[in-house]
Amino acid sequence: MDLRGKTLNASGFHTPERGTIDALDDVLIEIDADGAIAALHRHGDPNYRSIRDAREASGELVTLPAGSYILPGFVDLHVHAPQYPQLGDALDVPLEVWLQKYTFPLEARYRDIAFARHVYGLLVEDLIANGTTTALYFATIHQDATRVLVDICLEKGQRALIGKVAMDNADECPDYYRDRSAQEALDDTRALIDYVRGHPDNREARVLPVVTPRFIPSCTDATLEGLGEIARECGCHVQTHCSESDWAHGYVLARHGMTDTDSLDRFGLLGRKTVLAHANFLTAKDMETVQAREAAVAHCPLSNAYFANAVFPLRAALEKGLHVGLGTDISGGPSASMLENARGAILVSRMLQSGVDPALAPAARSGSGAAQIDFRDAFYIATSGGGLALDLPVGQFTPSYQFDAVLIDATAEKGTVRLFDDRDEGEGILQKIIYTASKPNIAATWIGGRKV
Ligand SMILES: [Zn+2]
Repeated sequence: MDLRGKTLNASGFHTPERGTIDALDDVLIEIDADGAIAALHRHGDPNYRSIRDAREASGELVTLPAGSYILPGFVDLHVHAPQYPQLGDALDVPLEVWLQKYTFPLEARYRDIAFARHVYGLLVEDLIANGTTTALYFATIHQDATRVLVDICLEKGQRALIGKVAMDNADECPDYYRDRSAQEALDDTRALIDYVRGHPDNREARVLPVVTPRFIPSCTDATLEGLGEIARECGCHVQTHCSESDWAHGYVLARHGMTDTDSLDRFGLLGRKTVLAHANFLTAKDMETVQAREAAVAHCPLSNAYFANAVFPLRAALEKGLHVGLGTDISGGPSASMLENARGAILVSRMLQSGVDPALAPAARSGSGAAQIDFRDAFYIATSGGGLALDLPVGQFTPSYQFDAVLIDATAEKGTVRLFDDRDEGEGILQKIIYTASKPNIAATWIGGRKV
């Protein structure tokens, strides 16, 4: 049901502050005509009963069934839309081989608009069904196919940030798949920004354009410099890969004599609206720089297990106060589900803390000190942390934020959550949802109050 202009009576959870779960027990959420949260009334607030009665009398009250819980919709900070056909495939080689052997040939196919329409339609529907209400997308170098992705997100109602990928370095990109020149990479980036901002169906700015240098190895300095100028002029978001693997990190050190972070900063590509995918090999100084610029990291735990040669020190970054959200990195990570990636984030954090080589004694085995996170942090980076990273009012049920939400049906027969009345309560229910929920438990998804 469309919840714009309605008052929702529901229970659920959100985490506006990292480390603390706010359990919403039988609350009233007033949603305005534009899909934003106007007010939240808790059981026991002095006017709770009168508001509830008034909304019920006027037919504006929507009550969700017992055993169902609302969560903020998931914010996926790193998706390669064109790679969806190889989700769960091509995970056998290192990053630099993977790009040339599997990924560039697949992405090159998006010169075909019909192919793009088919894949992108399926992807956006699947992500919505998985509860992803906001997605930060890399498209391909192709102007027309990228416009198709914009159209599809608008049509299906997903909040999306979309970039035409810029990649023009002939040394690292194949002839059959690269921008012909820096000029072309920049012109096409501007053309996509204009298309998104001028789209007749995008007056609410639900889709936003993103300046998208693939990563430093695939771009010439002229392109990086030009993209920095565009980002400054247009005030757009920026996304790129940063210090992902040994090879990628080493490549930039060799070419620019500095880390990815310093190099991006030098080109004006590191700001409040920048999202750095992976960022596994940030030095302590890099972390200072990322924090000073208020840029964000997209942590992609599943992908990192295959392509990064390391685990991102998530807890250290969160404790330092960096903006961090969660990404699936479709298809570097083999799951489109943010819940599975949230579980992945917990799992790898524990392995980072304990170390993994059983041949070593425990003290020698443990790696980086306190690295372990729990379901609270995983839930935070999947929701609030992602909203904060993007500087968008999403990821929590707070007045003035958008009502982007998923409805978890913990009683779904084909689902994987099993609650027991005599033992499960409070945030323990959320813990079970984070650890065990799957697609059959996602009963509904709302974006801006609209059921999608
Ligand atoms: Zn990526």
